[in-house]
Amino acid sequence: MKQRVMGVETEFGVNATFRGGSRLSPEEVSRYLFRKVVAWGRSSNVFLGNGSRLYLDVGSHPEYATAECTDLLDVVAQDRAGEIIVQDLADDAEQRLAEEGFDATVYVLKNNVDSRGNSYGSHENYLIERRTRMERVTETLVPFLVTRQLVTGAGRLHVTEQRATYLVSQRADHMWEDLSSATTRSRPIINTRDEPHADPEKHRRLHVIVGDSTMSQTTTLLRLGTTDLVLQMLEAGTVVPDLVLANPMQAIRDVSRDPTGRVPLRLRSGGTVTALEVQEQLLALVTRYAEGAGIAGEGAYRDVLELWERGLDAIATDRLNLVDTEIEWVMKKKLLDSYAQRHGLEAWDPRLQQLDLAWHDIHARRGLVRILERSGAARTVVDDARVAAATTDPPQTRARLRGDFVRVASEHRRDFTVDWVHLKLNDTASRTVICKDPFAWQDERVDALLEHIRGSGGAPT
Ligand code: ATP
Ligand code: MG
Ligand code: MG
Repeated sequence: MKQRVMGVETEFGVNATFRGGSRLSPEEVSRYLFRKVVAWGRSSNVFLGNGSRLYLDVGSHPEYATAECTDLLDVVAQDRAGEIIVQDLADDAEQRLAEEGFDATVYVLKNNVDSRGNSYGSHENYLIERRTRMERVTETLVPFLVTRQLVTGAGRLHVTEQRATYLVSQRADHMWEDLSSATTRSRPIINTRDEPHADPEKHRRLHVIVGDSTMSQTTTLLRLGTTDLVLQMLEAGTVVPDLVLANPMQAIRDVSRDPTGRVPLRLRSGGTVTALEVQEQLLALVTRYAEGAGIAGEGAYRDVLELWERGLDAIATDRLNLVDTEIEWVMKKKLLDSYAQRHGLEAWDPRLQQLDLAWHDIHARRGLVRILERSGAARTVVDDARVAAATTDPPQTRARLRGDFVRVASEHRRDFTVDWVHLKLNDTASRTVICKDPFAWQDERVDALLEHIRGSGGAPT
């Protein structure tokens, strides 16, 4: 069933170690990272042949935004493809640095907090119908998002001086509001800026900015899959108990500090509820909805429902080993605990903090999650071939039109401008093609445009 367009944006952390005298700041290293991009696209803000967007704003956090997907496994594949694309830039940057006399190793981390305490995000985007009543959705979605970290958190070893706390979520401590239209100033759970990248009469883009970046494929699948299902259930008009929290920002921090899921959270209507209870209630309702809609047995949805249930059960029965190859904060905790035990380390030991960073290294051989995947200790849902294909092939959505246009126009060395909705050749009087329907992957106007490029000379390079 293809009823929703989704996409994930990831901001990466960049770092480098230098041997020898001269050093560069992460900002400067990030600019080296984008030299290859600028050489190709004459800008540090480009769309690629796989339909994705790659850009560097001011600062040191390159961002990769996946193309629009309708298939959950495509989201996982496109998100992983972004890691490969950005790692390739890091390799290129190392080489360019070497040519200019810097002996450096460049590290790109897919995490959410750097050593200076700055936070950067992973945004999820979900297309919803314009006629959906947003207050009804957010009323349930906020308590869902506050508590879903139990199954979608990436985990973080937080150390202050000699005090170590293992947090379920990377991002929880850095959220300041539940709903707002500003992303950086107030950092809300849901960004309400109305920018649908689609026909505004028909659609909205729900912009969730509370999520942890996830290295584990199964955790990425759960992050998008559980949220998509909760949204579907709410859109279908399912009656949901009042789970509105009295203080979502206090709650999200409390849940992050409680791997047992049992700390009481105050409800606005009085009384308390635990994170486990919120998740269990929503899972039961979503399961009933999915069965009624006939999708509970479908490939990715079946996997999502099964793992969601097993994850909550593991926490409720104190048997985290039930999900220790699939839920990221549990996987990381297991690794840190066993390393600490083997080497007799205190919880705050810098070697453990180093491991936490190496967890998020996107390098195919250095990154700890990739190593665990190869040894079978981290389950995957898409194979290497599908991920490799996703670095060049767009999903079957509007991204296909954009990807084809970008590929053909750059092969023919044409000057073009694109964004999520528009395709334009700059060097002709031809009109901009506006692609308002994010589901539409075939379009005669785009065929004609490609025909025009192919036919109007300028040999492909
Ligand atoms: P910024 O992050 O710079 O504030 P932004 O939120 O618009 O801007 P982009 O980085 O441009 O984000 O990424 C947009 C994301 O939304 C992409 O992952 C893309 O696949 C997804 N997307 C595009 N159109 C739609 C749509 N109509 N519905 C849902 N998701 C969409
Ligand atoms: Mg973005
Ligand atoms: Mg965004």
